[in-house]
Amino acid sequence: MSQYQSVKGTRDIFPEEAVQWKYVEDIVNTLAALYGFREIRIPLFEYTELFQRGIGSTTDIVGKEMFSFQPDPAGRSVTLRPEMTAGVMRAALQKNLFSLAPVHKLFYIGELFRKERPQAGRQRQFTQFGAELLGVSSPSAVAEVITFMMHVFDSLALRGLKLRINTLGDTDDRLRYREALRTWFSPFHDLLDEASKERLEKNPLRILDSKNPAMQELVAGAPRLYDYLKASSLDDFRKVLFYLDERNIKYEIDHRLVRGLDYYCHTAFEVTSSELGAQDAIGGGGRYDALAKELGSSVDVPASGFAVGIERLLIIMEKQGLFATLPQGVPTVYLILQHQDLADHGMHIAWQLRQAGITTEIDLASRSMKAQMREANKVKASYALFIGQSECETGQYSLKNLVTSEQTTLTLEALFHMLIAQRQSQPHF
Ligand code: AMP
Repeated sequence: MSQYQSVKGTRDIFPEEAVQWKYVEDIVNTLAALYGFREIRIPLFEYTELFQRGIGSTTDIVGKEMFSFQPDPAGRSVTLRPEMTAGVMRAALQKNLFSLAPVHKLFYIGELFRKERPQAGRQRQFTQFGAELLGVSSPSAVAEVITFMMHVFDSLALRGLKLRINTLGDTDDRLRYREALRTWFSPFHDLLDEASKERLEKNPLRILDSKNPAMQELVAGAPRLYDYLKASSLDDFRKVLFYLDERNIKYEIDHRLVRGLDYYCHTAFEVTSSELGAQDAIGGGGRYDALAKELGSSVDVPASGFAVGIERLLIIMEKQGLFATLPQGVPTVYLILQHQDLADHGMHIAWQLRQAGITTEIDLASRSMKAQMREANKVKASYALFIGQSECETGQYSLKNLVTSEQTTLTLEALFHMLIAQRQSQPHF
């Protein structure tokens, strides 16, 4: 064992698990194409101001969770991205995408960094997939991002997820509601915890978000934003729900669900799983019509999006036994060398087989024939091809089907034909 350990809050992903990641990523890629979302890749770090503006300085992420550093002594501070939305919007604005077309549907799969205290389901480096629908904001647009997200969960066969949804209304609705909350909480000021006192000053909506049970009790009696919405905001929300009903997507309306940032508006949503314990959120999102303006854009870019944590998704899939049948990159042919003098000949055959697209494995560690056979069985190869002196001289090779134990003798040419034909009839062969 090395004296070096990975940094707390980070993880290594070994091949068995990488297969699981790839499986999830393939489904995300396929469904993104189905819904017309195109992939964007942005840098791992950005200037710190982007997140201060784009996420908001009163949030926990910006307040205490960012990995920031100054690459040049007198230069600007940069920050490892703690979320993707601000960077994606920055990239879209920087590239002037909206002068080319009014609407852009983007998705991503990428690593994020937050200085949170590591615990089960909470890392300092983690991964999200997500989508941003930029340039149009409407019930149909937000319904589309929710539908894409839920379709991914369905395709992965995840069970027992709960989609909670709420509306935050528009800016006017929230201004009126904010005042109502301040008035309502004022008599209870002494009962508020420190974080809630600060929130009451800066952004009272976020008190609703508090995980503190004492605060939750207080919040239970507080006025509901829903009762402060104007008719058009209510219609907007009802239309989103209409689309979800029509698509048979189950949800629960949760009046306490808020995305505490100023630029969020109308629909907000979150998906949780009871398999996850304390950190039960797997993903969430909403509409953020004011972000572009917040980032200094001269054009309005209404938008909506979601982000899902892949590590937490994999925890649920593991618990629900959804990986049992994943193929593990099994070689088709394992070459068995009778003795090491034949290694060069074996290498040449392996090279030819691989050139023909046949997955092939050969021992590189000069192990005994018995050890090679053991390995061939262990890696679940479909066939063992024996390479001995007589095979080389006669051109007739013996091939063992490791599933049926059947043994045949054939020329290399016949072997190639057979394996190529099998591969064509079974794409995953
Ligand atoms: P957020 O950007 O905070 O809304 O998070 C969206 C999703 O990312 C969450 O629902 C989690 O699945 C995942 N996530 C957020 N923070 C972490 C973390 N520290 N470790 C692992 N996953 C996380």
